[in-house]
Amino acid sequence: MQAFTFLRATDARQAIDAGARSPTAQQGASVRFVAGGTTLLDLMKLHVETPQQVVDINHLPLDRIERTPDGGLKIGALARNSDVANHAEVQRDYAVLSQALLAGASAQLRNMATTGGNLLQRTRCMYFRDEHMPCNKRQPGSGCPAIGGANRTLAILGASEHCIATNPSDQNVALAALEARIAIHGAHGERVVPIADFFLLPGDTPDRETVMQPGDLITHVLLPPPKAGTRSHYLKLRDRASYEFALASAAVVLGVDGGRIHHARVALGGVGTRPWRAPEAEQSLLGQPATPASFAAAATAALRDARPQSENGFKVELARRCLVHALTTVATA
Ligand SMILES: Cc1cc2nc3c(=O)[nH]c(=O)nc-3n(C[C@H](O)[C@H](O)[C@H](O)COP(=O)(O)OP(=O)(O)OC[C@H]3O[C@@H](n4cnc5c(N)ncnc54)[C@H](O)[C@@H]3O)c2cc1C
Ligand code: SF4
Repeated sequence: MQAFTFLRATDARQAIDAGARSPTAQQGASVRFVAGGTTLLDLMKLHVETPQQVVDINHLPLDRIERTPDGGLKIGALARNSDVANHAEVQRDYAVLSQALLAGASAQLRNMATTGGNLLQRTRCMYFRDEHMPCNKRQPGSGCPAIGGANRTLAILGASEHCIATNPSDQNVALAALEARIAIHGAHGERVVPIADFFLLPGDTPDRETVMQPGDLITHVLLPPPKAGTRSHYLKLRDRASYEFALASAAVVLGVDGGRIHHARVALGGVGTRPWRAPEAEQSLLGQPATPASFAAAATAALRDARPQSENGFKVELARRCLVHALTTVATA
């Protein structure tokens, strides 16, 4: 691991000012905040992240989970994944988020991992994590060996000719279906970014993954009030039952009244270059009867633009079945 200085931030402004000295908040940042450290320290040991300064934000008062006046939920960026997953109101009103978090990593990792750190976790593409290989995301312009290489776990939606890496998070898929908003305190004040606008497609700059700017500190995740008459569910399919990233996953929020669907939010994981909201599936479901035929049509719509790579064609059908199963589960619960 390369040498770095360490700063223990005692207030948000101190962290933001330190972070703002980095030329970028994307790949290659010279200043990084550390929360649980379960992504950052791994990548520093692999020389993928080489910050000159690490700013410990764990002493900032950002770990609370509380109701908002409108009946939504405000989750502090430092709330641990285990605390969010086991929070009674998250389990009752946002089951999809609790289920997604519990499907991720291991109990020990969830006790360390934070809401903000999970949002910003990096791809598990093996070339990205190997400093001896070319990789456009780690080193812009060096190439993408995953295209035509080992791409079984990588993306079929949202890829470009420069990068086909998946966003690996389970939490972020649930947050996409819940239409979460990300509260950010930065060098130029505070702003709130809908999750649909937070993650960038790789395009020709796969090293830029989010709208984060130097100094930006995620302070909270905001969830809207739960929609009356809806239920939610997260289904994750993977190579082994635990301690494994998704090959395909589905987060759904569904409202059914009199046998007809009046509300649908759908997001897919393990298949997209960002947490993959599927508005085509939602449109397809609205007003339809909650039947296997409607669910199958929605899943076909969600995967219509899929572009498989040499090794991951199986993901198209896997994701389709995953979504059908998730919709069936939530509709019959
Ligand atoms: C073995 C293993 C298995 C895993 N399996 C899964 C899995 O199945 N599913 C899954 O979803 N995840 C999985 N993970 C990933 C894990 O969920 C993430 O590592 C974790 O959520 C990151 O949170 P953290 O607090 O440790 O982040 P850190 O490592 O502390 O930070 C990650 C990044 O976020 C930045 N950051 C952190 N907090 C803030 C903030 N408030 N504002 C601005 N920037 C911030 C840091 O600077 C850093 O760049 C796994 C990880 C490991 C090591
Ligand atoms: S898919 Fe993206 S992260 Fe993986 S090697 Fe290609 S450019 Fe790098």
